[in-house]
Amino acid sequence: AVDVRGVHKSFGSLEVLKGVDLTVRQGEVTVILGPSGSGKSTLLRTLNHLEKVDRGSIRIDGELVGYRRRGNILRELRDRDILRQRSKIGFVFQNFNLFPHLTVLENVTEAPISAQRRDRGEVTAEARQLLERVGVADKADRYPKQLSGGQQQRVAIARALALRPKVILFDEPTSALDPELVGEVLDVIRDLARAGATLVIVTHEIGFAREVADTVVFMDDGVVVEQGAPAQVLDHPTHDRTRAFLSRVL
Ligand code: ATP
Ligand code: MG
Repeated sequence: AVDVRGVHKSFGSLEVLKGVDLTVRQGEVTVILGPSGSGKSTLLRTLNHLEKVDRGSIRIDGELVGYRRRGNILRELRDRDILRQRSKIGFVFQNFNLFPHLTVLENVTEAPISAQRRDRGEVTAEARQLLERVGVADKADRYPKQLSGGQQQRVAIARALALRPKVILFDEPTSALDPELVGEVLDVIRDLARAGATLVIVTHEIGFAREVADTVVFMDDGVVVEQGAPAQVLDHPTHDRTRAFLSRVL
């Protein structure tokens, strides 16, 4: 579903992605691990063109992300086409990023109505079901600041699902939560995984990675160092850098 080929990205003179190759198959869960600064968030952000790549390409369901090809020349998509493309990719951030001035229900319905131009009544009915699914249906008319962090993050997941995305990207979805709230968010993500969603998750929750991941990817210093089944990468890493990282976090 997601195909990353030779992606490079620099900020000024700092090269953050140094040729990343990654394939995420439809219906699979990919967990990305790696030390701070290794480029995990930058990679996720390139997947929906929040960051432009300097070199290489990203395709989602065969469609080039952020660009169209004219002969041999790549031209960046127009803003409205970027937004249309982005609306098919869910993104769940560490700090929830809900719209503070919108109710919980409005947070979930906003993008399907405005970016996807779907019918308001249909979107609202679906949003209520999604809030039910993540266990916050009773909060539909509240504002984000009236919710706990775990509840806000579950709303953020419902908001991502409302786009009917091809893939959902999670950037450390539980790192900003109090420890007692981590479980309720991981439960929701686990349910999505069981239901066959295509997920890419950056997390430091190694136990969770072992449990839900089809593929674990270890990134270091702007490249994918190692990837494979959880039992392989987590229990029998072949690279020193992976071993060193795991010995620090396990
Ligand atoms: P963490 O685990 O701490 O979240 P990460 O693997 O997600 O780390 P990135 O956020 O991708 O790492 O950052 C990789 C490097 O790129 C870091 O050195 C960071 O300071 C730098 N960086 C990220 N975004 C920018 C930016 N917009 N401008 C300049 N430098 C940036
Ligand atoms: Mg990060």
